[in-house]
Amino acid sequence: MNEGVAVLTTLALLAMVLSIAIALSARSMEPAPLATSWSLAFALSSAAWTLNILHGLTGFGGAFSIAAVSALAMIVPVLLWKGLTERAGQPPPTRGWMVAVVLVDSIILCAALKHADGLWAALSQLFRAVVLVMALRHVAMPNRQARVDEQMMRLLLALLAAISLIVGVMALARQFQTATALGDLDRWLLLLALPPVFTGIGIAALTLIANDLAANLRRLATTDPLTGILNRRGFDQMSEQLIPTVGRREIVAMFILTDIDRFKRINDQYGHEAGDQVLIAFARAIESQLRPLDLFGRTGGEEFAILLIGATIEFSMLVVEQLRSALKQVTVDAVPNLRLTASFGMAPIGSVDDLGRAQRYADRALYEAKESGRDRAVLAEAEASMAYDASSC
Ligand code: GH3
Ligand code: MG
Ligand code: MG
Repeated sequence: MNEGVAVLTTLALLAMVLSIAIALSARSMEPAPLATSWSLAFALSSAAWTLNILHGLTGFGGAFSIAAVSALAMIVPVLLWKGLTERAGQPPPTRGWMVAVVLVDSIILCAALKHADGLWAALSQLFRAVVLVMALRHVAMPNRQARVDEQMMRLLLALLAAISLIVGVMALARQFQTATALGDLDRWLLLLALPPVFTGIGIAALTLIANDLAANLRRLATTDPLTGILNRRGFDQMSEQLIPTVGRREIVAMFILTDIDRFKRINDQYGHEAGDQVLIAFARAIESQLRPLDLFGRTGGEEFAILLIGATIEFSMLVVEQLRSALKQVTVDAVPNLRLTASFGMAPIGSVDDLGRAQRYADRALYEAKESGRDRAVLAEAEASMAYDASSC
């Protein structure tokens, strides 16, 4: 057995193992969008390499075997690309790409029948390189910076594209008997670089699936299922992360607790489901008035918390007034003549304060707002000035 056959056999087995591993990972908790296409891509890679070995050792299938191996080798990157677009929620590669596979493969078959070995090898490799470059754009999610595992995947796919490109160009040069200064580079790339890059892509895919699942679970654990905003855990976690940043910059944040007034009456009069609709409408109304950098979470039944990042007392007062008038506009079909109001307790956070302290003051201020007639905002006055003074020390 020569080293080429040994490497191809290893690759065929590895591809099969990775295909099964990716398929199994998708069955764990929830279907990973990437997994079906990628598992199929690795299974087809395994089939391509197995057929390649058979053809190399026995001449099995002649030119038709070459065309079949090349077709599989070109479909694989299209499937990888498709998996990435499914994961990113973007449109998949158009049907035109599959038409291109058929067209290029027809030329490959003709070239193989005429024993133009360099030409057919070059065509499939160059096609792979082009598709892999197209796929690179879809590795990271469009709405955020690339994660480390996504950067890793991008690097590995780029390396695979580079290997395909070099091997393709060298095959073309041989076909037209053009001398290159690259010697046996393509052979060494296929023997030494392809196996680790290919295996790396499989492992990176599994890491991507696992990290996506972890991120999704984290999101579920920190989101309120009814309103879709942060729950108490999410709000506290994100506040703890944001407040030290705010502190370092010596800007105050404003912590606000708000509680819907006489909410129990809505439940009693119109039912729990109508109450739920009011909670959702309340969350939407508040959310619409906040800036993207502010935090907003549901901390209890009809109690919500807001963190206005970098907000002064004056600015926060203005925001609360906007919130109060936005609530007055809220309508809910299930509750005719709804007059939605809420009470607010506010406590500023200086650079030396912690969230717990602000929560206690805001809670007391909210109690005061309720006691003094509801539908109003109370600033934790005495404590506020202490907290404010402390921040400038
Ligand atoms: P106050 O102005 O003093 O805040 O009066 P309130 O009626 O709003 O306050 P109270 O604490 O007496 O009642 C809160 C009600 O909120 C009681 C509870 O059944 C209801 N509630 C808590 N969580 C939910 C929920 O998820 N959905 C619905 N529909 N109601 C809820
Ligand atoms: Mg209430
Ligand atoms: Mg309450």
